[in-house]
Amino acid sequence: MVVVGAGAAGVQSAVALRERGYEGRVTLVGGEPHRPYDRPPLSKAVLRGLGRPQDVVFDVDFAGLDIELRTGVTALKLRARERQLVTSAGELPYDRLVIATGADAVRVPGDEGAYVLRTLDDAERLREVLEARREVVVIGAGWIGAEFATAAREAGCRVTVIEAGAGPLAGVLPGAVTAPMAGWYAQAGAELRTGVRVTGIEGGDGGARVSLADGSQVRADAVVVGVGARPATGWLAGSGIALGARGEVLADEWLRASVPGVYAVGDCVSFPSGRFGERLAVHHWDNALQGARAIAAHVVADMAGVAGGQAAPYDPVPYFWSEQFGRFVQYAGQHGAGDAVVRRGVPDGDGGWSVCWLRGDRVTAVLTVDRPRDLAQGKRLITAATAVDPALVADAAVALRAAARTAVGAGS
Ligand SMILES: Cc1cc2nc3c(=O)[nH]c(=O)nc-3n(C[C@H](O)[C@H](O)[C@H](O)COP(=O)(O)OP(=O)(O)OC[C@H]3O[C@@H](n4cnc5c(N)ncnc54)[C@H](O)[C@@H]3O)c2cc1C
Repeated sequence: MVVVGAGAAGVQSAVALRERGYEGRVTLVGGEPHRPYDRPPLSKAVLRGLGRPQDVVFDVDFAGLDIELRTGVTALKLRARERQLVTSAGELPYDRLVIATGADAVRVPGDEGAYVLRTLDDAERLREVLEARREVVVIGAGWIGAEFATAAREAGCRVTVIEAGAGPLAGVLPGAVTAPMAGWYAQAGAELRTGVRVTGIEGGDGGARVSLADGSQVRADAVVVGVGARPATGWLAGSGIALGARGEVLADEWLRASVPGVYAVGDCVSFPSGRFGERLAVHHWDNALQGARAIAAHVVADMAGVAGGQAAPYDPVPYFWSEQFGRFVQYAGQHGAGDAVVRRGVPDGDGGWSVCWLRGDRVTAVLTVDRPRDLAQGKRLITAATAVDPALVADAAVALRAAARTAVGAGS
């Protein structure tokens, strides 16, 4: 068993195989020189000087689990027919392969001197920027842009965030839902400029000028680009593995790629969801872990001679959290464009607020701000496809679980 990519998905794949009793050889190959580490704390702790690099490494005893960890080794090419992985340290034969190479930060034209936030090295570089209390421009008001802006304001930097969409998180959530979030930037003392594109970046570290489509320019000591991530699958070119429009591995409902013996998991893959009736590409931590466990279960069942179809298909309720501007934001499910939006609570009133998406009388997704109970109860309603009373969903004084029309989910 060879696992390529030693992030959350790759590490968990190797560990879950052992937990399931897999006794064959397991080799975990990672391109970065560091011991495998976790990414969410990079923006929440490392940037803010709250965690040292050694605090973010996964607490896994690779040797004790008999997992051969090979860091600083990059997969260059896959010869799927011969079951050979070509790496920077030579060829590795495999019986089964897990692709877990994650995603790379998307860059914008002309941003060579700018920073991104994807790796531990990125976070270390940016921590120095924050310690110098410099003037920073952040391109993109997505999840990473918001978390970086939070840390930069806390550090005392002057922060301007440029967002091409109409508001924060424009690419992932409807404007009517995220409108209150724009105010969070102002409250924290960051300037948010929306609906304007960056047309160029001149200069680099030590003094840059960011040009905007409205003809204006913003000066910065440092520019941080946070406009998303793209699957790191360039090395699969010519392998015969089917890739989607964004370069993601197109897997089936057991996370199997299009050639025999190959699985894919985490940020680099998309899979069909029976639950939501569409193909999902989920760039979130929980998906990396759950997907890895699903692969281990499938491999072990398959080796035991149980037909693949009898292992449960991977069909999660996606879950994500973010910590920004002193708030705890969580999202579960997958909303569709036609779903009704139901609000619970007043934005930035006491006790947080939530939004539920309903398709008919079923909840498809829930977004919560400082209301973790709504998140937990909403996720259960989504998982069980429980019918709900929309009027009760809208009543923030009523526990979300009490909106169930049936007994299912009640009392939990
Ligand atoms: C700063 C930051 C904060 C985040 N915060 C949250 C959060 O609060 N909540 C949440 O749900 N999610 C969060 N995420 C997203 C979450 O971390 C990812 O979804 C998760 O890391 C995906 O795991 P992965 O193993 O698929 O990919 P990755 O973590 O990207 O790991 C892939 C690994 O593969 C390696 N690799 C790539 N190509 C090759 C190759 N050819 N050969 C060998 N190795 C290779 C990479 O170097 C990398 O180490 C955050 C991400 C970042 C960057």
